[in-house]
Amino acid sequence: MATPGNLFILSAPSGAGKSSLITALLKQPNKRKLQVSVSHTTREPRPGEINGEHYHFVSVEDFKKSIEQKHFYEWAEVFDNYYGTSEVAIDEQLAKGIDVFLDIDWQGAQQVRMKKPDVTTIFISPPSRATLEDRLRKRGQDSEEVIAQRMAQAQSECSHFQEFDYIIINDEFEQALADLVTIVENQRLKRSQQVENHKDLFKDLLAND
Ligand code: 5GP
Repeated sequence: MATPGNLFILSAPSGAGKSSLITALLKQPNKRKLQVSVSHTTREPRPGEINGEHYHFVSVEDFKKSIEQKHFYEWAEVFDNYYGTSEVAIDEQLAKGIDVFLDIDWQGAQQVRMKKPDVTTIFISPPSRATLEDRLRKRGQDSEEVIAQRMAQAQSECSHFQEFDYIIINDEFEQALADLVTIVENQRLKRSQQVENHKDLFKDLLAND
């Protein structure tokens, strides 16, 4: 069923530039509100990451408790850590007409698609494998071992590109951002969405006076 807000999923191998695109998207002038869901994770915070802003950093024990209590809309194990999206946060925002972005992996995307088939899914691809490795290295946040692990994981993530509605190739950042804005605007103009958000207008247009 359509909700006043749209749900989007952004997936990408790490290093494809997803976080920068999301940050830039949030700064765009938007007629309607837009929010990125803050996931729960059991991984250690990276330098500069703030609890509650980048992630809710929780213990494995707490995460498992939340799984049992069905607090998650979706969850997955990625790079030996758990990641999950809290259910309440999403439904409330969508009902208020806020567009919600989920920055999650392909496993999470599959789960969300089952629950909300009208979700818009976007895969962000690096322009090449070499660029991806270069970006991971320049980030300077991970050890060589972790980089090698992330490259292997990237291939696994990329192998699911056919499951997504849209693909953005992040070569030129400004172009990739423009592509992302186009997808958001396109979704907002869809008939199902317009009817949901302008019920009175369509009632009025069809009224017999
Ligand atoms: P990172 O540790 O680099 O922040 O994220 C690693 C991967 O976990 C990324 O592909 C990211 O999209 C994914 N991820 C982050 N939060 C979630 C979540 O809540 N659910 C799922 N399924 N994946 C997530």
